[in-house]
Amino acid sequence: MPSLIDARPAEPFADVKARAAEAVDASREEIVDLSHRIHANPEPAFEEHRAAAWVADVLAGHGFAVERPAGSLETAVRARLSGGLGTDGPRIGVLAEYDALPGLGHGCGHNTMAASGVGAAIALAAVRDAFAGEIVFLGTPAEERGSGKQFMLDDGLFAGLDAALLYHPCDRNHVDIAPLASEDASVVFTGVQSHAASEPWEGRNALDAMIALFSSVGLWRQQLPPHCRVHGIIQEGGTAANIIPDRTRAWFMIRSADQAYYEVMKSRFTRLCEAAATAADVEVEVEFSGFASTMKTNRLLADRWVANAQAYGIVDQGPDGTTGSTDMANVSWAVPAIHPDLAITDRPTPAHSTEFRDAAARPRADETVLLAATLVAQTALDLLLDPSLVERAWEEFRG
Ligand SMILES: [Zn+2]
Ligand SMILES: [Zn+2]
Repeated sequence: MPSLIDARPAEPFADVKARAAEAVDASREEIVDLSHRIHANPEPAFEEHRAAAWVADVLAGHGFAVERPAGSLETAVRARLSGGLGTDGPRIGVLAEYDALPGLGHGCGHNTMAASGVGAAIALAAVRDAFAGEIVFLGTPAEERGSGKQFMLDDGLFAGLDAALLYHPCDRNHVDIAPLASEDASVVFTGVQSHAASEPWEGRNALDAMIALFSSVGLWRQQLPPHCRVHGIIQEGGTAANIIPDRTRAWFMIRSADQAYYEVMKSRFTRLCEAAATAADVEVEVEFSGFASTMKTNRLLADRWVANAQAYGIVDQGPDGTTGSTDMANVSWAVPAIHPDLAITDRPTPAHSTEFRDAAARPRADETVLLAATLVAQTALDLLLDPSLVERAWEEFRG
């Protein structure tokens, strides 16, 4: 890819965009250091205390007014900076994630998202003399579990924004994504303990119910359309082979590309849990949380992203054939939004793997962090310097 300072950015406003790219390049060490620090200190959903503090510190150092925590989540960050020409202009949300995966670390590469979001904010601060309006950086916890952005939506932190921009690392380059509607389901079976050899008939076996549930989920899969996913792990399966387990617990996720069909799945899954409890004569509790919706990508913003990326030799490869879920999709129904992916590796590498985790802190990924920062800043500038685009993005949003 051409270097950040050699390439001529996409029109319009190529001169200001070039200054933004130079600002990212000038802060290269600070941005990459942030990515590496977060990568080396992975924190799971809702526990991103160090990452949030580091992100907040860098932003404060570049003139942002920082709130930490922001809203009800302890590890959420909001940092705001007005344009040099006043506040009467677009309010652009620059988003960043920083949660890791339990037992795996940054296997989704969210360290690159935190650093590039901060990098974009640094670049916009460096060219604030050119625009009116406001940059609203949002550090958004708990993407991998819990849908932190939904808490932030409920807390009003997206109110008044005109756009929300968030890059994600990938092994391909594409602006369009089609995430599945998704929810976490916590399933707890409660039975009665007894000695597994001397008087097993006195017990009611919570593990039997769990095994029955996994069996029925396995059979259910054949009847599910290809756009659906259901998968889970057993978190508690008993404590000893000679005790009839009185408590077992599983963590499932159910997903569908079709919002309406997702509701059908949810109801069916609940009935499977109840049937398994009946079969083993135990009690069951099913709790759903962390809903993520399907995504409404804003075409106008997506087109600006693609044009800005092209100037750096990035060719859009079209959406992935398969996909997970993201709470960014929830944001996309509240404000015009994009969630573009950029490659951090040059070969096919599955996300949520040690290979992807290791790739997320290599020089190839560092270059992508800087490019993502530049492209987020440049796409924000398209809107800040031509507020009529914001109006058109909202027109499209309202359909
Ligand atoms: Zn991710
Ligand atoms: Zn992930």
